[in-house]
Amino acid sequence: MNATLQQQLASTPGLRARFDEPMAAHTTYKVGGPAAAFVEVHSPDALVRLLALLAAAAVPWLVLGNGSNALFADRGYSGAVLHLGQGFDHVAVARDAGGPGTHRLSAGAALSVTRLLRFVKDEQLSGVEFLGGIPGTVGGAVRMNAGTAAGEVSATLEAAELTNAGGASWVPAAALGLRYRHSELPEGSVVTAARFAVRDADPDMRQRLDAVLAYRKATQPLQAPSCGSVFANPPGDHAGRLIEAAGLKGHTVGGAQVSEQHANWIINRGGASAADVHALIALCRRTVFERFGVELHHEVQLLGDWEVTA
Ligand SMILES: Cc1cc2nc3c(=O)[nH]c(=O)nc-3n(C[C@H](O)[C@H](O)[C@H](O)COP(=O)(O)OP(=O)(O)OC[C@H]3O[C@@H](n4cnc5c(N)ncnc54)[C@H](O)[C@@H]3O)c2cc1C
Repeated sequence: MNATLQQQLASTPGLRARFDEPMAAHTTYKVGGPAAAFVEVHSPDALVRLLALLAAAAVPWLVLGNGSNALFADRGYSGAVLHLGQGFDHVAVARDAGGPGTHRLSAGAALSVTRLLRFVKDEQLSGVEFLGGIPGTVGGAVRMNAGTAAGEVSATLEAAELTNAGGASWVPAAALGLRYRHSELPEGSVVTAARFAVRDADPDMRQRLDAVLAYRKATQPLQAPSCGSVFANPPGDHAGRLIEAAGLKGHTVGGAQVSEQHANWIINRGGASAADVHALIALCRRTVFERFGVELHHEVQLLGDWEVTA
């Protein structure tokens, strides 16, 4: 990244740029090498300005939310990592905006799912509690169509605000290509806000959320650094069941381990590299395919400068 761009990033109001920033500090896996630039963005205007600067300098970029579904390469990233901050963490409800009893919940992309759920609880609303326990941001949840067995973002998202170098616009959920843990956002766009259709909380709402959280606590290795489930479940089966049946539960590569508790989780037992995790992902895929003829696809996002892709 050239010195002129560095200077522009450092001096643009609403941006806070750091250079050669280790990505291990910004991902729940706690792995990943340095990004050439890590830029916190604090206003919509600053984001548009930043996207224009990066385009003019032909510098690649990506957005990172909470880094909870990210496996960042050990080599790091030669481009800029954008991180939305204050200015993108608003949340509000417009009651009856969708007709009597249907309310519109609006949230900035940087808002954590935890804070979204706290707001919903305080406001006695229901409709997004299936997100309980997902440690991401609203932007990351839209991008990943995050969800659980209880539901996913696409079921309740009305529209997302997308920003590119030309400005911001609202796009209906139906145009975002949302499928199981997947979306098709237009190239070069950042999710900056989302609008969900919610309703009045019913008496069972709190119980449903508690049930989701209790199930997680009982079945998932929440103490160790991870990205949650590594693989999408193949149709009609569970990736964890297949990996366990292939004899890989507990298997380690370096500091990475297929969790003893849940075989679809690969945890960082301490000191893992991204390459360790990646090697274990490749081993699970290969072994499950050889044993059962099922192709597993990883839902964790490989970010940064990888030499190979799993
Ligand atoms: C303990 C644990 C449990 C988990 N449980 C679940 C679960 O039950 N269900 C589930 O679906 N996921 C789960 N996950 C995975 C993860 O939390 C979700 O995918 C979450 O939605 C990612 O949000 P994030 O902000 O951390 O995104 P990041 O990990 O930062 O990014 C993920 C992807 O989204 C892109 N992205 C992020 N923000 C934006 C934005 N504003 N605009 C455009 N693109 C963006 C990134 O470039 C990247 O490609 C779990 C993870 C952990 C660590």
